[in-house]
Amino acid sequence: MNEYDSNRIFDIAKNINYAKTDNLKDANCYIINTCHIREKATEKVYHDIGRVKKQFKNRKKPIVVVVGCVAQAEGDLLLQKEKYIDAVVGPQSYHKISETILKIEDEKKRLNSTEFEVVEKFDSLNHIKNSCNSVSSYLTIQEGCDKFCKFCVVPYTRGAEFSRSTTELFKECQNLVSNGAKEIILLGQNVNAYEFKKNKLSNLISDLSEIKNLKRIRYTTSHPVDFTEDLIEIYGKSTKLMPLIHLPVQSGSDRILKKMNRKHTVKFYLNLIDKLKKKKPSLKFSSDFIIAYPEETDKDFEDTLKLMDKVEYINTYSFLFSARPGTPAAKLLKIDEKVAKERLERFQKKAEEIKMNYRKTLFQKKSSVLFENSMKEKNQFFGRDQFSNSVIVSSNENLIGQIKEVMITKGNRNTLFGELDHKFKREIFAA
Ligand code: SAM
Ligand code: SF4
Repeated sequence: MNEYDSNRIFDIAKNINYAKTDNLKDANCYIINTCHIREKATEKVYHDIGRVKKQFKNRKKPIVVVVGCVAQAEGDLLLQKEKYIDAVVGPQSYHKISETILKIEDEKKRLNSTEFEVVEKFDSLNHIKNSCNSVSSYLTIQEGCDKFCKFCVVPYTRGAEFSRSTTELFKECQNLVSNGAKEIILLGQNVNAYEFKKNKLSNLISDLSEIKNLKRIRYTTSHPVDFTEDLIEIYGKSTKLMPLIHLPVQSGSDRILKKMNRKHTVKFYLNLIDKLKKKKPSLKFSSDFIIAYPEETDKDFEDTLKLMDKVEYINTYSFLFSARPGTPAAKLLKIDEKVAKERLERFQKKAEEIKMNYRKTLFQKKSSVLFENSMKEKNQFFGRDQFSNSVIVSSNENLIGQIKEVMITKGNRNTLFGELDHKFKREIFAA
């Protein structure tokens, strides 16, 4: 979502004649978009500002604006702690970024803009053309969260659930497709809670599927509890909806799920997966896990490992519990650091084994790959298959924006390598 927000911030700043530069030294304004989900992300902000300071030692100071959830959470504290920062702008106030920059330029004021103005934000963004021209483009459809998992800052930094107008989303999607997008990734902290005037995520997917040149639709991140029957049904209908579902579970222990306030059990989660697979047997799953949540016992952790075996996730994102200020879990006693690290290592080793076993099943088979960009190496192109696996092939033809059948020949933990399936192509033409 930060990537989507950063692109939109650029679209707004363009209107006051700012342009992007890749060269750090050239910039006269830095906008640092931030994440507050885990501790390290906050540290990164200070690190980034340190880097800017170094570049501008003995030179005119550039304007420095911190945007996003760290700005929201820390507000004035950030301005007090780091005098180099000219303004903090929360994730629901960034539509005012041009005003903020102009005020800093003209009035040399330091500003705090961290109001929750999500309706106003999207009203204003709806009038500004989304200039993103990536083959795979993000589209924020929903923001905020009402779930209040005990560990999570999102309800405090992004605010309450808000869903954007279906008509405006259709327009923005059409615009992205006319810019060259072939795939749209619908975004929301709780994306399957999307609801605008009785239109749910399933209705939005059906509507967007009508856009002719749009070939693929994905969405992230969904909560198991909001996986309604209509959304399950659509897997039996839509050919554009990709067969990988990111379905965070966080833990395989009912005891821990309850402590986290996740609002479901392991049984409920596995039932949901069963129902989805009945609708579409080719479905695969990825997930997020928090390891060493306060009071997690060895047994709880073993239950998490068992769940991994059952679901056979093709991808997992695992994090050690990070105490976030202001959340209920921050007050709880943390697990011993050594034990926590050992568990994370064991988890990641197992996740890697499951992933590699899956990836081996892809070798010498065909995958349908949408090519997104070219690589530094001559004639190499990067794309993703239907399950979001990264694939690289060589080709004399420019493949960007095309979907091709690829024979996967080898791969490692991050990337699959393949060859364009000319034989297969000939068969199609002969048919
Ligand atoms: N809404 C999604 C859900 O319900 O699972 C998750 C969105 S959250 C922005 C992304 C991931 O960050 C979570 O799934 C969780 O694994 C991780 N996360 C959030 N808070 C965390 C914390 N305090 N410590 C460690 N990981 C955390
Ligand atoms: Fe955070 Fe997701 Fe829980 Fe909402 S559902 S509080 S975003 S982890």
